[in-house]
Amino acid sequence: MYFISNIGANAGAHRLWSHKSYKAKLPLRILLLICFNASGQNSIYNWVKNHRMHHKYCDTNADPHNTQRGFFYTHVGWVMMTEHPEFIKKSKQLNLSDISSDPVVVFGH
Ligand SMILES: [Zn+2]
Repeated sequence: MYFISNIGANAGAHRLWSHKSYKAKLPLRILLLICFNASGQNSIYNWVKNHRMHHKYCDTNADPHNTQRGFFYTHVGWVMMTEHPEFIKKSKQLNLSDISSDPVVVFGH
């Protein structure tokens, strides 16, 4: 399960949907969605939104993994805490049209 869920998170949510490192046809996207869901990391849509915010606003209050808030917050705590107002404000300006138009991502969400 660790291997399968990592394929979904790394090859799917990270490389395919967040960074558009490659293109995948429908059957592979569905397989990656299934693998990703095994990871228990919310939806691909939210994962991509958080990851793009992390890259765009690294180590600021708009970064969901802001290292300025400590080791625990960076790795685990951010999942359990309310989003910072700066994150909420700036994430609304983020262009997620590519993933919100992918029916596989929308179905998973
Ligand atoms: Zn990345």
